[in-house]
Order: sequence, then C-alpha cells, then structure tokens
Amino acid sequence: MPRAPDLAIVGGGIVGLWCAMRAGAAGLCTVLLEKGRIGQGASGGFLGALMPHQPVRWTPEKAFQLDALMSLETEITLLEERTGIDCGYRRCGRLIPTRTEKKRAQRTDWQAAARQNWPTASPGGKLLEWRLLDATPDARWLARDAAPLGCEFDTLSARVSPRALLAALALATSRTVHIRERTAVARLHDGGAMIVLDDGTELKPGRVILTAGYETFDFLEDMAGRRLGRGVKGQAALMHPLQPVDPHAPIIYFGGVYVISHDNGLIAIGSTSENEFVDAAATDHRLDDLIARATMICPALEGAALQERWSGVRPNAIGRHPMIGPLPACPRIVVCTGGYKISFGIAHRMADAALGFVTGQRSSVPPRYATAAHYACAQ
Ligand SMILES: Cc1cc2nc3c(=O)[nH]c(=O)nc-3n(C[C@H](O)[C@H](O)[C@H](O)COP(=O)(O)OP(=O)(O)OC[C@H]3O[C@@H](n4cnc5c(N)ncnc54)[C@H](O)[C@@H]3O)c2cc1C
Repeated sequence: MPRAPDLAIVGGGIVGLWCAMRAGAAGLCTVLLEKGRIGQGASGGFLGALMPHQPVRWTPEKAFQLDALMSLETEITLLEERTGIDCGYRRCGRLIPTRTEKKRAQRTDWQAAARQNWPTASPGGKLLEWRLLDATPDARWLARDAAPLGCEFDTLSARVSPRALLAALALATSRTVHIRERTAVARLHDGGAMIVLDDGTELKPGRVILTAGYETFDFLEDMAGRRLGRGVKGQAALMHPLQPVDPHAPIIYFGGVYVISHDNGLIAIGSTSENEFVDAAATDHRLDDLIARATMICPALEGAALQERWSGVRPNAIGRHPMIGPLPACPRIVVCTGGYKISFGIAHRMADAALGFVTGQRSSVPPRYATAAHYACAQ
C-alpha cells in the first residue's frame, strides 16, 4: 500500500466505492481503507429502492436527486459492461396506496408537479409520469383493501441489487485503486495530513475523503467540536414467496414499509427506523411487526419463507440532507456522507462532487448539502 497516496478514502460502502471509481478514473493514486469487508456497513443489505422525492415544492436538492436517479441507469449499464456483473437494476416504478380523500386530492397536485419537474422519458426511453390509478393493478401484489381509493403509480422509481452493485464497483475499482479491507483508521492528524491505522501504520495522503457511514460523525466530532449527525438503525427481511411473483413488479411503498421484488425471485421488505439502539447488528420483534404489516399490504407474501434478517445503521447528517464538501477547519478532508435513505440513488453524484473538491475543479452541491449548512444546524 502506498504510504503517501494522492488520496485516501475512509470507508468501503456504496459512497466510498463510487468515490474510488471516480478517483481511479481521474488517475489519482488512491487507497481505500475499510475496517471490515467491503459493504459490511449500511450498504450491505438487499432492499435497493431508488425512489424520487415528491415532485412538489421543487428545490435544488430534489433536482440533484432527480439528475442522479436519471444518470444512474447509464452508469450501471456501463459498469455491467465493464465487469460482466448484473446489478439487478430495473426501472420498475412504485405504487403508493391512497387511503383518504385528502391524500387523493393532494396527489393530483403531485401528478401536475411531476409533469412540470420531471423529464418526459428515462435514458432508456421509458415514459416518466406520476399516474393516479382507481384501483390496484394487481390484487395479489397490492391488496385491494390496502388501496381503498386506488393508488399512485410513478414510473421513475427503480430498484437495484445492493450486493451485486457493490461487487461490480469493487471489481471495477480494484483495477485502479488500492483497496485495503480489514484496515481500520484510528485517527486523523494534522487536519488530515496524517492517517494513523489501528495497527499504528502512518499514511500521509494528499487529501482524504471521509465516507465512513454513520461513524463519520465520530471522526467529525473530534475535528469540528460538534455532533454533526447520527446513525439510524434499520431492519429488513428477505422473503421467498410460495408462488413466483413478477420480478418486475413495482415497489410498494406505504407508511415507511417497502416491498420490493427482485430478479432472483425474492422479495425484500424494509425498514424500521430506530434512533435508539443497543446492538446495531441484531434484529428483533420490530422486524416481525414489519413483516406482518407488509404481508397485509402484499398478499404474495402470505406463507413466504424467511430467507434472511438483516440490520444496518444509516448515516443521517444533522441537516437531514447529505453532507458533501471540505471541512471548514481542515480543507484537506472532504466529507461525503449522510445519504440516509437515498444513498444508492445518489452516491455516484455525491462522489462526483467530492472528487471535484479533491481535485480543485469547480464543484457545486445543493446549498443544504454543504458542510457549512450542517455546521450551522449544529450550533
Ligand atoms: C434496513 C435498511 C434499508 C435501506 N434501504 C435503502 C434503500 O432501499 N435505498 C437506499 O438508497 N438506501 C437504503 N438504505 C440506506 C443506505 O443503505 C445507506 O444510506 C448507505 O448504505 C450508506 O452508505 P455509506 O457508504 O455512506 O455508508 P456505509 O455503507 O455504512 O459504509 C461506511 C463504511 O465505512 C467503514 N468504516 C467505518 N469506520 C471506519 C474506520 N474507522 N476505518 C475504516 N473504515 C471504516 C464501515 O465499516 C463501512 O463499511 C437502507 C439502510 C438500511 C439500514
């Protein structure tokens, strides 16, 4: 491992890997340091929903996410061609059941807003729209009772296989970047001019991208003197349905419950949101409740066999938006984290922005993503 690389990336989750891809493409001598295995953090799950924000009350942050969701389709196609790994990407759309008249009236506005703010077609040529349906399109997938006033259907939402995407990124990246697993960063010294590993090894990188998921906030607390975010635990389940389901079925999203059909015939269910937790890796009765709620919405889950229970901790920055940019007091360190529930759809664009800061090229992020905006929230 080079001891004085141009760039050290701390963390091998979805964001760190995209940063590594971009750094390799830019020709930087880069090391990626991961304390465990690639994807052992929040990125190693199986949900993979890529869902747009509501199209109403348009902001630069929503525009950033939209651009990211649109461009990801092409990025993944290129990655699949380079690696031969199928990333399980599909623009499957999303169903949101409508249960009250108030919501139905509100959603007419959303339909109009989608027409105004979204492009008309995806890069693959799929029509992008927000439709109101009078009834569920498939009562075995979304139960009639769950959608008494019909549902909304957007064709922009997509899904990906998180583990396949990580594997593809790791393979592509390993050709240009030094990836070091089981290599924990213990401390950053001298404003990032020195990295000390937990075995005492010292590195002197030119620049650092700090993308250690929710643990980024521990590093930042030391350097910024304030708490800039926290971890929010989530639990999820992977189910094997009794009868085969359409792998291209739209994501069902209702009241924080996601139901996602994947190419491998399995159905992913997510997610809890827990601000307080003792054991980040444990699953419990909250997941059983979630499975029960998902089964009420989605009859295809009745009798399904549980394949895997999983939990992870999402990085949630204090400003409730991703946090990207140099640290005000230590500009050598670029922070890139806080994707919370939308990281998989925007991580490649977060990486573009982070690399822009590293190389000194013009890099702009939406105002609420800037580190200064988060610092202001923490005062
Ligand atoms: C149940 C659940 C469901 C989710 N569903 C979705 C979804 O459908 N769609 C979506 O977009 N997002 C989803 N998310 C959120 C998404 O998974 C996270 O936002 C994303 O994985 C964060 O990626 P990251 O790279 O920032 O962090 P992580 O994936 O956590 O990566 C950080 C890495 O840094 C490493 N690290 C930490 N400290 C050190 C150190 N000192 N030295 C070296 N390495 C270190 C960790 O080991 C880890 O591998 C979900 C999350 C959960 C928990």
